[in-house]
Amino acid sequence: MISGRLRNTEYVINLRALGENIQAQKAALPADSKILAVVKANAYGHGLVPVAQAALRAGATGMCVAILDEALELRDSGLDVITLVLGITPVEEANVAAEAGVSLTVGSLDWLTKYHQFARQFNWKKPLKIHLAVDTGMGRIGFTNVAEFNQAVKILRRYPEFEFEGMFTHFATADSADHTYFDRQYARWQKFIESLDELPPYTHMANSATGLWHRDQITANTIRMGLSMYGYNPSGTDLPEDLHLQPVGTLRSSISFVKKLAAGESVSYGATYTAEHDEWLATVPIGYADGYPRCMTGFKVLVDGQYCPIAGRVCMDQMMVRLPKYYPVDTPVILMGRSGDLTITAEEMADQAQTINYEILTNFNNRIHRTYHY
Ligand SMILES: *Cc1c(COP(=O)(O)O)cnc(C)c1O
Repeated sequence: MISGRLRNTEYVINLRALGENIQAQKAALPADSKILAVVKANAYGHGLVPVAQAALRAGATGMCVAILDEALELRDSGLDVITLVLGITPVEEANVAAEAGVSLTVGSLDWLTKYHQFARQFNWKKPLKIHLAVDTGMGRIGFTNVAEFNQAVKILRRYPEFEFEGMFTHFATADSADHTYFDRQYARWQKFIESLDELPPYTHMANSATGLWHRDQITANTIRMGLSMYGYNPSGTDLPEDLHLQPVGTLRSSISFVKKLAAGESVSYGATYTAEHDEWLATVPIGYADGYPRCMTGFKVLVDGQYCPIAGRVCMDQMMVRLPKYYPVDTPVILMGRSGDLTITAEEMADQAQTINYEILTNFNNRIHRTYHY
């Protein structure tokens, strides 16, 4: 995998801030609450293994990932904590999880019976740790029917091929000021919880938004902390948060080329930008193939504490910005983060790109080198 180590563009990750975000959330929950750090999608672009290690140091109990490959990458790095795959794993691959002690999400009786048949047929002895997903209104995966859920629990408790480790649900509108839909999902979750005489070791219903805005309603012993751990607000800018979250990532580069552009000259593909006056123009070595979206054309970056407009179209690997005056090659350029008194936030980038901060962050790919501060 290309890591971009030899280019002056990097994503600087402040793992101390990440730890403080976790501790702030932990301090706001009952003392016996556990945190599963959600590190899917390369830890929302921040780097799977370094983030997982930092989260554990800060008091997380384990990890959530989206797919089994991500869980195995954590195991390969030596992390032996509870690691839950949140998506549905193909039945035929599930014994790999059992062997690695990785916990899987199951949302149907069908999956359980198929796995049980395989396990018997191929003599897979090692118990597979299961978290049952309850669909209370997200409509993605999970049991919607309490009786079927109870049947699944019976299967998990009866057969030695399984270990009933957890149950969880996921909210669709926890980041909304209107609580109507949340409350409907919550009432359903309570029905599932109350249907069991004995709960599994891990119960979880809270994502970041639930941990921020429905803290007092959490009837579970564990929360799944995703975006807020990275210091971002799951509602974008809609709702204020009270944990003083600190964004952990700074996307920076530096000027690779600088020139004076004469009035009337144009820049970049399509020649959509034309200089009105003679002006200084810098080239910055980052582009849409790094996950800096092409639709940031017309947005801005920070140079020496000043906003500088992106001039012309963002290219695949480079882009141009207009400088207020001459700056030499190697002058730092902040694409996301702080310079002097000014900042560019993931939320502002998301507004420009007409998306959400989650997508901006997860787009930054491995061609951008990650640098970690501890
Ligand atoms: C991704 C995901 C999370 C984390 O969501 P955040 O909003 O980032 O906290 C939690 N639970 C499930 C099931 C997920 O898929």
